[in-house]
Amino acid sequence: MTAIFINGTQIADDIKREVAAEVEMLKLRGIQPGLAVVLVGEDPASSAYVNMKAKTCEQLGIRSRKLTISSAVTTEQLLSEVRKLNEDDAIDGILVQLPLPKQVKKHAILEGVDPRKDVDGFHSANVGSLVLGHETLVACTPLGVMELLRRSNVKIEGANAVVLGRSDDVGKPQALLLLHANATVTICHSKTRNLRELTRQADIIVAAIGKTALVTGDWVKPGAVVIDVGTNRVDSREEVQRLFGNDEKRLKDFEKRGYVWAGDVDERAVKEVASMITPVPGGVGPMTIATLMKNTIKAARMRRGL
Ligand code: NAP
Repeated sequence: MTAIFINGTQIADDIKREVAAEVEMLKLRGIQPGLAVVLVGEDPASSAYVNMKAKTCEQLGIRSRKLTISSAVTTEQLLSEVRKLNEDDAIDGILVQLPLPKQVKKHAILEGVDPRKDVDGFHSANVGSLVLGHETLVACTPLGVMELLRRSNVKIEGANAVVLGRSDDVGKPQALLLLHANATVTICHSKTRNLRELTRQADIIVAAIGKTALVTGDWVKPGAVVIDVGTNRVDSREEVQRLFGNDEKRLKDFEKRGYVWAGDVDERAVKEVASMITPVPGGVGPMTIATLMKNTIKAARMRRGL
């Protein structure tokens, strides 16, 4: 069997078009949704993510505001900036770009965001609502995975789903979303025994562990759907060739940038066994920004009771 590749870029574009149409509808009612992104420090990767988010807002008609704050900021100072955004009626969504500098208490900052504006879905009030199955703001990446599954017509109800990883931002919310969609869910982590035996029973595997190509062909049941959240940087040419053979595009990318991205799934082996698979890049990655935009519109509506 050769798997179908789920095109995350195309599905994300569809979602962005839907969001742009919703923005137009809101504008007719005098509402322009607004997203504030808070960047602490000058980490180039974080800065690139923030700029990409701002650019997407602009494309979709969402007002965006970028706050750049010194990496020497204290927890109290950052909290005070977050509180100003909480009070600002032009802002519907607040995203604090992670990671934060060591001296800043991440938990205090995430809890300081008004839950109604928490478009990352990290506030304990939103996590609690997710556990209870109430309508709420949910973390963007796992939400994006659900969109990929649904829009690819994958049957989730009754499926055995194995989630690899139990982080607060991906694994846990992913497992809950799949559970609410009536899958039977197994959550695996670094202390799980016999991982391969568990994944081999899965109809759906979501890999979010951050270990390059850990999931190999013999971990996957024939016909399973495999979603690869992993985004791992591969810095050596030998490793690129080991993972992707003589894939010209990857080798060219490597020559140009000095690295390529690879997932937690050994794509070459798993595509021969699975029925569907997401590529890295171009699978889950583009969905995260699209669902952030969707969450911003949702926050704008929910805050106004629409
Ligand atoms: P994380 O916070 O580091 O969590 C990793 C999880 O994987 C932990 O629960 C850990 O178990 C588990 N794990 C680690 N090694 C394992 C192993 N050998 N076997 C089984 N489980 C193992 O990472 P994360 O934030 O969830 O991100 C995971 C990956 O997704 C990363 O590559 C990240 O870059 C990527 N990601 C991509 C997007 C996107 O938009 N595409 C968004 C978010 C994350 P313990 O809990 O026992 O330590």
